[in-house]
Amino acid sequence: MGDTKNLGDQFYNELMTRIKSISDKPVKWVVVTHHHQDHSGNIGKFQDAGAKVVVHSNLNKNLETYAPQQGKPAMANTPYSKREYDIKLGGVTAKVYHFGSAHTSGDSFLYYPDLKVLQGGDAIVGVAPNIDFPFNGSGVDWVRVLNQVAKLDFDTVVPGHSAQGQTTMTRADFMAYKMKWETLISRAKELVKKGTPKDQLLAQIKTDDLGWNINTQQWQQPARLDPFYAELKAAK
Ligand SMILES: [Zn+2]
Repeated sequence: MGDTKNLGDQFYNELMTRIKSISDKPVKWVVVTHHHQDHSGNIGKFQDAGAKVVVHSNLNKNLETYAPQQGKPAMANTPYSKREYDIKLGGVTAKVYHFGSAHTSGDSFLYYPDLKVLQGGDAIVGVAPNIDFPFNGSGVDWVRVLNQVAKLDFDTVVPGHSAQGQTTMTRADFMAYKMKWETLISRAKELVKKGTPKDQLLAQIKTDDLGWNINTQQWQQPARLDPFYAELKAAK
């Protein structure tokens, strides 16, 4: 199972009802893509029910200081710290990858080679992406991460969030998404290289053709703008 939905009985029970509509077997393995509570919220409930919950070790580290309104998600019982972790069950393998920082420092991708399905968490979304800088996300590294993802043989992506009605993405959708990231970061790097002041950067990055408006109050907050500018400046 990939991700556990928002913290709380309501969401957990709804998710379990859906799972039970497919199988009466217990959930033995859960992979959580990152620490945000709308993905990690019910780690504790799945563990209490006997599941192993696989996360990158940076996810557990991020949970130490993460304090959402909804409450604190439980630490996962099966952290990994290498580039990949294999889950073998009933002759089938699911692979979990960490390719570096993107949405957060603890992002995992869940890949089912037999099905050619990839679950990307919030590193792959059908809406404007969001870099969690306080938890060491990175726009520059995000591009590198997506280049690693592109090497996997998948034809369907389950995005972390999507526009209404679009529950999956095709490989072509993913490649278009990756291209948008490359375009955004290369334009931003170019502006910083040219000496564009920090307070003008967001207004000057052309994004209308990408469909991502990043000149918003959220992006203008120093907690986001300062590290974004700094990483663009440091990038080669
Ligand atoms: Zn998230």
